[in-house]
Amino acid sequence: MTKHFSLKITSILIIAILFSSCNSNNHTDTSSKTSIAAENPFESKIDSILKLMTLEEKLGQLNLPTSGDITTGAAKGSDVGERIKQGLVGGLFNIKTAEKIYEVQKVAVEQSRLGIPLIFGMDVIHGYKTTFPIPLGLSSSWDMDMIEKTARVAAIEASADGINWTFSPMVDISRDPRWGRVSEGNGEDPYLGSAIARAMVTGYQSDDLSSNNTLMSCVKHFALYGAVEAGRDYNTVDMSRIRMYNEYLAPYKAAIDAGVGSVMASFNEVDGVPATGNKWLLTDLLRNDWGFNGFVVTDYTGIYEMIAHGVGDKYAVSEQALKAGVDMDMAGDSPSIPAAFVKTLKASYENGKVTMDEIDTAVKRMLTAKYQLGLFDDPYRYCDFDRAKTEIFTPEHKAFARKVSAESMVLLKNEEQLLPLKKSGTIALIGPLAKATNNMAGTWSVATDQEQSNSVFDGLTEVIGDKATMLYAKGSNVDYDLELEQRATMFGKDIPRDGRTDKQLLDEALQIAAKSDVIVATLGESAELSGESSSRTDLGIPQVQKDLLNALLKTGKPVVLVLFTGRPLVLVEENENVPAILNAWFPGSEAGLAISDVLFGAVNPSGKLTATFPRNVGQVPLFYNHKNTGRPLGNTEGKFEKFKSNYIDVRNEPLYPFGYGLSYTTFDYANLKLDKTSINMDGEINVSVDVTNSGDYDGKEVVQLYIRDLVGSVTRPVRELKGFQKVLIKKGETQTITFKISVEDLNFYNSDLDYVAEPGQFQVFVGTNSDAKLMQAFELTK
Ligand code: BGC
Repeated sequence: MTKHFSLKITSILIIAILFSSCNSNNHTDTSSKTSIAAENPFESKIDSILKLMTLEEKLGQLNLPTSGDITTGAAKGSDVGERIKQGLVGGLFNIKTAEKIYEVQKVAVEQSRLGIPLIFGMDVIHGYKTTFPIPLGLSSSWDMDMIEKTARVAAIEASADGINWTFSPMVDISRDPRWGRVSEGNGEDPYLGSAIARAMVTGYQSDDLSSNNTLMSCVKHFALYGAVEAGRDYNTVDMSRIRMYNEYLAPYKAAIDAGVGSVMASFNEVDGVPATGNKWLLTDLLRNDWGFNGFVVTDYTGIYEMIAHGVGDKYAVSEQALKAGVDMDMAGDSPSIPAAFVKTLKASYENGKVTMDEIDTAVKRMLTAKYQLGLFDDPYRYCDFDRAKTEIFTPEHKAFARKVSAESMVLLKNEEQLLPLKKSGTIALIGPLAKATNNMAGTWSVATDQEQSNSVFDGLTEVIGDKATMLYAKGSNVDYDLELEQRATMFGKDIPRDGRTDKQLLDEALQIAAKSDVIVATLGESAELSGESSSRTDLGIPQVQKDLLNALLKTGKPVVLVLFTGRPLVLVEENENVPAILNAWFPGSEAGLAISDVLFGAVNPSGKLTATFPRNVGQVPLFYNHKNTGRPLGNTEGKFEKFKSNYIDVRNEPLYPFGYGLSYTTFDYANLKLDKTSINMDGEINVSVDVTNSGDYDGKEVVQLYIRDLVGSVTRPVRELKGFQKVLIKKGETQTITFKISVEDLNFYNSDLDYVAEPGQFQVFVGTNSDAKLMQAFELTK
């Protein structure tokens, strides 16, 4: 598309010069954290623009409304359109298609006084129209190249639809499956979470933000959002600095080190101050310590919410947010929201509460981002009307999504090798999720065409062909409780309530079960039973579905449970009674085909849990990298010991530990070796282990390495993941897998928050999950 610039005012020439080709040396190095603030290549241009801007126009750059009535396409006449014309809008979110975005951008560029282009953001969370598994599922693949490629595909598709900024990745560590947003994160481990953060940022941004098929990434929610008290969404967070630094902050920092362009502040408070107004967090730590040079956006109405947090009135909260380091205010602009940069900062400036310098700093960051995206060079660079036709939801992307989905599933149980199934005889497909096409993409999949996913019913029908007979019955509703069911099936993910009684539904299921050789029960959460504002206190499969499952088990027919969930669930009874359990998470737009691939063995499952599955809700928070305490249990069988750190009614261990996941084959570990038993601070240890595929199928295994620092100046976790490799091992084959441990892997934050490795004894564990048994030891000397 040609470049369009028609600026209407007297500053036209000056601006034209400023905007003109910034391409020669304009690519800020996104792969390193070179300081934009110190060496911003756009600085002089931005300074000249600033000189032309009124205060209102400056505040406009900090304003990020939702697209509102523009979604109807009438950009010029719309309410938001009017504000864009007045220069009161810096970007829009939740608007898509190149045509619509072009139309809106044209208003900004041609009809606002200075013609500054808008930035267009969206929640492109786990794919765009081609939808990949929910992030918790994707993380279970442990395949960083593949994860990076999912972000790349998402960037290609979203940018083909005009978008240039994504509110992803979410890297909040969480140990609390009550919190519905565990579905959007990568589980409980900071090491794995950091690797995924890097992969996602690199996938979105690639090495050139101004390319028309990359997106600026926004790491969120800064910070600690996954640690909300009692798992209740938006709740308070309170934690020691040492826990923050050692257990929660690493993935955000990894995203910063990978060059992420923006950061979203979280809803929660940190150290008693809402993150949105927390100067220590957004400036001292983020910018001064970590060297972040991009811009900070609030979460949805985050500034306004500071009033309810109880830290000030509408003026005070905007002032505090600006001074803390917020640059862009998300959704403050809507008429019902009184506190917003664009509404109150002018008065605050006039009253001397904020300075022009503070406002200019934020504006500069916004303009820098627009330069980085190449928007000053060509504001329509993401508006190629032809791209969407050939680059979105392509057969290649769908085939890739099918592979990714299958790789993300976790086989939790497989007694007597019930799986893989044979394509023969009669298969009963039963459950309220079997035909729930619109639920397959899972939560936060705003660009998905819900109806274009394939359901389990669709997938099995295609994959079985005429080789076997499939019978289907719904079996039950999602929940006995209609109101809960409605809350759990919103945003176009409705699963119509069946008019029949529970008994009628069950009877039908039992009838087809009686005619079948094997039952595939598709049960669990509906898509919106997890996700934002979907916290739960009961972590079971909804009771009506459990009753259905128990009735199916009573038939004596073999039952495979295909589980849908956005969080770790409590599955003690299922684990006890159901012979095979495949956790599919929410697999994305190719769900049904991918599930069929795994059920029939075209793909041997290799996913491993990235979040612990507890035995009951009372164990939560439960995570593998806990401390030993002064009174650890003296036995490994989980036997109760009085006056030791355990429960009287349940053993300490989870049902399924972090890193757990079965395969259709078996892997044996042997010969764990370290090449040295002692290293100094410059040293490195080579670790090797032999992994043998001792079963009947070729398979992929995630070989995991954990360390334990036995003595520290502060207490250290019983295990910490420090390495992993996903390898394909053919049946009968033995591979020697090697790792390197360097001093960097032994570092931690001490009580002065210095990042150090301390001399002493360390243990190394390698195995198939976080309960790995093989162990060797070494010493770190000065
Ligand atoms: C969520 C963010 C999201 C934003 C914009 C908020 O409610 O917390 O994760 O990016 O909405 O849709």
